Amino acid sequence: MRSRRLIATLTAIAAALLAIGPAAADCSNTGSFSGWLKGFEQEALTQGISRRVVSEALDGLTFDPRVIHFDRRQGVFSQTFLEFSGRMVSGYRLRIGEKKLKQYASVFDRVEKRFGVPRQVITAFWALETDFGANMGKFSTLRSLATLAYDCRRPEIFRPQLMDALRVLQRGDLPVSEMVGAWAGEVGQTQFLPSDYYARAIDFDGDGRRDLRHSVPDVLASTANMLSEFGWHRGEPWLEEVRVPARMDWKQAGIDKTHPRKFWAAEGVTRPDGRSIKADGFPASLLLPMGRNGPAFLAYANFQPFLQWNQSLVYVTTAAYLATRFAGAPKVSPGRASVDNLSVAEIKELQRLLERDGYDVGGVDGTIGSSTRAAVKAVQIKLGLPADAYPDKEFLQRLRTM
Ligand code: CA
Repeated sequence: MRSRRLIATLTAIAAALLAIGPAAADCSNTGSFSGWLKGFEQEALTQGISRRVVSEALDGLTFDPRVIHFDRRQGVFSQTFLEFSGRMVSGYRLRIGEKKLKQYASVFDRVEKRFGVPRQVITAFWALETDFGANMGKFSTLRSLATLAYDCRRPEIFRPQLMDALRVLQRGDLPVSEMVGAWAGEVGQTQFLPSDYYARAIDFDGDGRRDLRHSVPDVLASTANMLSEFGWHRGEPWLEEVRVPARMDWKQAGIDKTHPRKFWAAEGVTRPDGRSIKADGFPASLLLPMGRNGPAFLAYANFQPFLQWNQSLVYVTTAAYLATRFAGAPKVSPGRASVDNLSVAEIKELQRLLERDGYDVGGVDGTIGSSTRAAVKAVQIKLGLPADAYPDKEFLQRLRTM
């Protein structure tokens, strides 16, 4: 189970890395870890963390090479939507989710009333992140974050996280012994980074502590609060499966483009069973996670909070799809034809070829992220190919011979 959750973590970190560029990836550390830790302790004191908390949390902490090992291995998220969702949206997970929805129905009633986020959406993240709290991780959060904050690659991301972990301790939400989670510092049943924990966790059971490890009411309300702050629109849908015609203006697809539903209806987009979709003015994007021959969805404004949770399109499409399953939607159709997926090596080759031709792919990392998709789409348009932004083997072959 942990490897599944780690995959989600890996993608978040990979996305963070992409956001600041790969330049720091080959740096090396200078100065000892213990010297660095002393400096950080001093800073924590000047930031108002008590000497007791600083000492309890950080004294004697050591560098954790396993964390660096996991961190440097990141960027391996190469599963397609059907592969990843096929594994994650299992009968087991659906059954446990249904059980949890019943068990905590009255808590969900109160959470929905206050935050406007549907219970099925909260349950989807609860399922994917830790299997409803069963796999929260066993790493010392403080040791992991100190290791990543000391490491030269992205101290600007992890140093503030470590400081906020101290603030969470100082507030009394968790004791130091319970500050435990994933290798990259996420804590609790829906895996909050400490800065989110500090700013967005809610005490919903009224015991005076925000406890994201043991209190389900705190977990559900905090998750809803986070999605609400990410811009959730109360009462609106997030994702709806559709069927696309064999030919349409594929350039209009993608989560960066939005049209009223009547536009999609006019293009020939229907419900999965062929009935018409609502042809109204409600804005939607056409999401084709595996290109025009694979599964198809209309993604609504409420898909954006998913993208803020985790920037991997495969992960968030799976989370949004799982939430529709909890809300009663049937199993997704694999689409019109089997999609000829690229291996990691082929994706890297594709990215090198695109770079050769002057396109920015956000670094040759073997994952099809938003910049690689944008470059693929530009080439498809240039060559007069169906511009669905999804590279298959045929597309790679075209690039090789260009
Ligand atoms: Ca509480």
